[in-house]
Amino acid sequence: MSGLNGKVALVTGGTGGIGSAICVKLAQAGCKVVSTYVDEAQANDWKAKMTAAGYDFGLVKCDVGSFDDCKAMGEKVNAEYGGVDILVNNAGITKDGTFRKMSGDQWNAVLTVNLDSVFNVTKQFIDGMLGKSWGRVINISSINGQKGQFGQTNYSAAKAGMHGFTMALAQETAKKGITVNSISPGYIGTEMVMAIAEEVRNQIIAQIPVGRLGKPEEIAALVGFLASEDGAFITGANIAANGGQHMC
Ligand code: NDP
Repeated sequence: MSGLNGKVALVTGGTGGIGSAICVKLAQAGCKVVSTYVDEAQANDWKAKMTAAGYDFGLVKCDVGSFDDCKAMGEKVNAEYGGVDILVNNAGITKDGTFRKMSGDQWNAVLTVNLDSVFNVTKQFIDGMLGKSWGRVINISSINGQKGQFGQTNYSAAKAGMHGFTMALAQETAKKGITVNSISPGYIGTEMVMAIAEEVRNQIIAQIPVGRLGKPEEIAALVGFLASEDGAFITGANIAANGGQHMC
């Protein structure tokens, strides 16, 4: 992973399962890494754990679903760190239910946090990237945005929408040294997935040709590659990392 030393990376939801692995990977590559958070107590625990492991991560409070919050966060981060070179739009939530039972609140929450957030956050940093003629925007989408998923009309729509955003912004910024890509993970062995009953989890694993869940570090490795100079020719792509569960 060349060319990352000294770059500033912002990871939304960096305190979560996949986000933590992304923060660690980018820090190991020499980036100054800042994560957003919502839950203050959890963020403080995370920071203490990471500090003990030798990482000096920045933390900034922000509800990525709120444009005003993102604007304030952007002003703070831009002032404190001199802009963001690598933006990883990773924060996400699910609120599952079959379409007939899905409420407007479930729909809006998932679209706001997973999709509107990509607009809200990217908007704060794209001018800075254009000014430096260098930037990386990496959007963490999902296999379920590629293939759809029973009980997830909201999440599948939001995650598919993220990739539409990716392709359009990639075209608008390619000549300016900025790449914009999506990563679509399959089932990753985060706390959330490991909390699923073992029997159900085994049924999920049975559908994955490689025969196991993915590791957060495997998604982080892809982020690191896309962020680096080695990934400079990749833009507008949606890279699947799903153990062969969905091939397209
Ligand atoms: P986690 O639940 O572990 O982490 C999600 C993160 O998003 C948390 O840090 C959380 O912060 C943050 N977040 C939630 N709501 C908001 C908000 N309104 N504003 C700011 N931050 C928010 O999830 P994962 O690590 O598993 O998932 C990371 C990404 O990967 C998500 O986008 C998810 O959709 C995607 N993904 C995950 C897969 C998996 O198998 N785990 C598979 C495919 C895609 P806080 O804790 O402070 O609330």
